[in-house]
Amino acid sequence: MNRIPEVAVVGAGIVGLCTAYALAERGTAVRVYESGVPGHGQSSGQSRIFRHAHDDPRLVEFTRQGRAVWDEWADRLGVEMISPDGVVALGGPVPERLRILRDTGGIPVRAVDSAELHARMPLLADYSGPAMLDEGGGAIRTRVAIESLTNALGDAVVTEEVVSVHPTDHGTVEVLSTAGREEYATAVVCAGMGTARLARTVGLSPPVQPAAHVRLTFEVRGAPPERVACLQDSSGDFGEVGVYAAPYPGNSRYAVGLSQTVEVREDGSFADPDALVALNDRARAYVSRALPGLDPEPAEYLHCWVTSLPWSEDGMAVWEADGIFFAAGHNLFKQAPRLGRALAGAAVGEGLEEDLRPAAALGRPR
Ligand SMILES: Cc1cc2nc3c(=O)[nH]c(=O)nc-3n(C[C@H](O)[C@H](O)[C@H](O)COP(=O)(O)OP(=O)(O)OC[C@H]3O[C@@H](n4cnc5c(N)ncnc54)[C@H](O)[C@@H]3O)c2cc1C
Repeated sequence: MNRIPEVAVVGAGIVGLCTAYALAERGTAVRVYESGVPGHGQSSGQSRIFRHAHDDPRLVEFTRQGRAVWDEWADRLGVEMISPDGVVALGGPVPERLRILRDTGGIPVRAVDSAELHARMPLLADYSGPAMLDEGGGAIRTRVAIESLTNALGDAVVTEEVVSVHPTDHGTVEVLSTAGREEYATAVVCAGMGTARLARTVGLSPPVQPAAHVRLTFEVRGAPPERVACLQDSSGDFGEVGVYAAPYPGNSRYAVGLSQTVEVREDGSFADPDALVALNDRARAYVSRALPGLDPEPAEYLHCWVTSLPWSEDGMAVWEADGIFFAAGHNLFKQAPRLGRALAGAAVGEGLEEDLRPAAALGRPR
């Protein structure tokens, strides 16, 4: 008789894959349900930024620990998961962010002058304001991460949509999917846009806010630079205060987005569909002012959903009811291996880390 896995994971985005991998590395049998293709929800597209800088020192520490998990898994799977070229941040928040990073300790971060900034980020226009370099940050190789984790999990990942996850009267968790009905010791829901709906079945109402987001990708002019950092621009010097950008593998393309999102209704419909087009235009205009190293005509557009929690754009939390865990937040790519290990620990009965409980509001600026 086949052994029924002990834990069901709903969603094969980066968080579900990392949770399942963390369970597998403990020897816990797991099944991952994915309604579509692994990594094609909020985890879609090339490149995300791994940065240590956050406004909540607890999240800085969580991220510092997370970098070690990325490195451990990259070594084990024999791939590069984070580029070695760091992250530069610009603007007024730099001194305070440096202070929080230094207080945490163990993070290679420092202020840089204009010459070093431009050596690290050769695509950038002239800038001489406050700047820092996070040498332990870099561009996450998202496709490599998704593919290597999916391959490592093998046939534990199944293409089935989960319709309901709920407790049984004998202490297990029942998962109803498009292809069947199974019982597990517990379940972890990492379903992105689908998490709040599944949570409501067990009486939870996580305050997940859906929104729409756009990111544009541009060709680098001329030969790709040997080294190029990710960018976080809060300066306003180029007309925007919330810009993030990251190179693709090989450095011949650079993805640029505004951290601003467009509100959508709970069912995903737009109150103002033009707002997304306006964000596109602002990102293009930013590139023509701030990044002369890029061809200003976008080579790719990525339009997608994002989910966030009300207390911070980096907020993250896990809700728990009847032995079922529901993870939610934003900017979770960088956190996924560390979060996955925490969710795996909770799923096998070690308890949920206090900082991940909703009351802790992890990510809220302090
Ligand atoms: C353009 C963009 C840029 C970003 N930049 C950064 C960044 O620089 N750094 C960073 O750390 N983060 C960044 N983020 C955020 C980060 O990508 C997301 O927080 C992260 O990918 C979320 O992963 P997830 O696994 O929680 O969700 P998802 O990737 O959305 O995965 C959820 C999965 O669940 C599946 N699913 C849903 N419902 C069901 C169901 N009922 N049954 C079965 N399967 C189901 C979906 O198909 C999906 O594959 C960015 C996001 C975007 C969109």
